[in-house]
This record gives sequence, C-alpha cells and structure tokens, in this order.
Amino acid sequence: MPNLLDYDLAGLVGWFAELGEKPFRARQVMRWVHREGCDDFGAMTDVAKSLRVKLGEQAEIRAPALLRDDVSGDGTRKWLFDVGDGNAVETVFIPESGRGTLCVSSQAGCALDCAFCATGKQGFSRNLEVGEILGQLWLANRLLGVAAGTEEDNGRVVSNVVMMGMGEPLANFDNVVTALRVMLDDHAYGLSRRRVTVSTAGVVPAIDRLRDECPVALAVSLHAPDDALRDRLVPLNRKYPLRGLMAACRRYLERAPRDFVTFEYVMIDGVNDGDGHARALIALTRDVPCKFNLIPFNPFPHSAFARSPVERVRRFAGILLDSGIIVTTRRTRGDDVAAACGQLAGQVRDRTRRTLQTMEEV
Ligand code: SAH
Repeated sequence: MPNLLDYDLAGLVGWFAELGEKPFRARQVMRWVHREGCDDFGAMTDVAKSLRVKLGEQAEIRAPALLRDDVSGDGTRKWLFDVGDGNAVETVFIPESGRGTLCVSSQAGCALDCAFCATGKQGFSRNLEVGEILGQLWLANRLLGVAAGTEEDNGRVVSNVVMMGMGEPLANFDNVVTALRVMLDDHAYGLSRRRVTVSTAGVVPAIDRLRDECPVALAVSLHAPDDALRDRLVPLNRKYPLRGLMAACRRYLERAPRDFVTFEYVMIDGVNDGDGHARALIALTRDVPCKFNLIPFNPFPHSAFARSPVERVRRFAGILLDSGIIVTTRRTRGDDVAAACGQLAGQVRDRTRRTLQTMEEV
C-alpha cells in the first residue's frame, strides 16, 4: 500500500492522477500530512468525503516507530527509530536560541568506513526509503509539538535540517533528493535552501548531480589536507581524491544557495591537528570560498583516537583565521546520550561483515 510519506508533490500529483483526482487535491493532502502532521485521513476536513474514504482504503501515512527518546543535559534530544528487520536509525534535535536543527539519517549504517566514525564501524545495511528519511522530520515535529506551550518557543521547532546523521546522503541520492524537495516545498515544510544542508564525505559525481537537481547548502567532510592522510581517514578519498573534490566544490558554488562550502574537520589528537596541517589546508582551499567547522573528535567505544586538546584546536583555528578563513568550532552537544557527531550508531544489521575486522586498523 502506498505510503504518502514516500512522495514529493510531483509524485503525489502523479499518484492522485491514477486515482482520477485533480492536482489541487494532492496539494491539500500534502499540507495535511506535512504541515499539520496529520496521519488520519478522516480528519482532513476540507478534503471531499469520498476521497477521504478512498485514501483510507488505498493509502497509508506511516513513519518509523519510535524506540527510544533520550534527552541530554544540554537539551539535545536523540530519537531511535525502528526501520524494520533489526535496523534502527538515530535522529538528533539540537535546540539553540532562535533556531532548532534536526540532524537526519539517510542510511541504516554506512558503507564508507571512515576511521574515526562510530556509524562506519557498524557496517552498512541499506538505504533509507524517502518515507523513512522524511518520517524523521515528520515525527520530530510531532514529538516536539507535544511539548508545545511547556517550553520556550525559541528553538523548539525544526528550522534547519542537516543531513548529518547516519549514512552518506549522496550514496542514497534519489531518495535523499526526493526528501529534500518535500523539505523545501511550501505545501510541506517550506524550509529555505540555505537552511537545509547536505553533508558528504565527497562523492564527486553526486555533488554535481545535486547542484543540477536540487542545490542546497553543502558541507564536505574534509578531515585531512593531503591525499595520503585522507586516504587513511576517509577511504572514499582513494576513489575521489582531493583535487577533483575541490573542483567539484567550485562547480557546486556556481548554483549553490550560499556562496561558500562548509568544510567539516574532525580534530584528532596527533593525527590531523598540527600547524602544518592547518597551513596545508589554506593552500588546498585557496580557490574555494569556504568556512571551516572544526569538530573536536567525539570518542566512542573501541575508537582508536583521542580528541585534540582545547589549546590545540584554538591554535589550529587561529592559523586558519589569520589567513582570512571563517572558522567555527562545533560545541559538543548531546555527548552524554551518545548523540554527538560520529557517535550515532543505532542498530544495524551489517551486510558487509565489517564488524569482524578490528577497529584499530588505521
Ligand atoms: N557521510 C556524511 C554525513 C555524516 S555527517 C559525511 O561524511 O559528511 C557526520 C559528521 O560527523 C561528518 O563530518 C563526520 O566526518 C563527523 N564525524 C564522524 N565521526 C566523528 C567523531 N567520532 N567525532 C566527531 N565528528 C565525527
């Protein structure tokens, strides 16, 4: 039975046409589902009764089931959602004054196996369906709405989405783009392109496709200034080395809603955090308008790395800043409930047998 959370507006209009229904009916239902968070066709009061009955018989509105709801001491909220077959994915809501950011997963597990990431160490099961990606946003709005009136309005609702949860969004391109379209659609969430960010480890051809099909803000997980080190930390680099990645970033900016790319950079003690690394980054990104977001490494069980000392991060940031690059250091949020960057692990039925390998191999 079709799940209406799987469709963007064009898809819904198409399916309604098969039912003999007009496009404006699809728009009405789209609004009920996403703007009102409604999952009961009977409650869609401005929709013709006959259509409500038909939809009730032939369609469903089904989001993943909630397995866990953790609240961090700093207000960060982490949800664990069941996506079936023993797989579960995590979604994180980060309230800040004036905005609320939802960190959304795109895959159950991840196939990229970055050396410092908990999700990667779990292996990979499968791509999420559109409805499972959108379902995270749909449910977050409902779960946050429950508390309406009991919290400050500030930062209570989702104003920004970052595709920075479990998985590599550009490895699940079609489903992610369909979900992005719904996030941007005025009949649904109506988020601006600047407030929706796709983060990628650097799938070069898909960066070009995203530029052509659905440009939103782009973040690239850089983590190293040269191919030798990046090959070790982000194995995808062996396929798409830095030179081509920088060129793809430049091409992306021709159509991007923001005039810079955000480079994420995990600060790992003694591995990629030296003064020389900072200087090499300046040279590497000379032709790419960018900002740097430094992420102090977040440890997880059996991780082989340590976080760079605060003083080191400050000095590293200072070198970049002195060259004119804007640098922010990501404040660690939610780590008391393992919701910080790189700590999301959910439950994954690994199909790659990666978990049999040692975790200290890098
Ligand atoms: N696959 C995409 C989306 C994941 S985003 C990507 O690579 O961009 C998650 C961000 O957290 C990435 O920048 C990732 O490199 C970073 N990260 C992963 N493990 C981390 C850890 N242990 N500590 C801090 N950041 C980490």
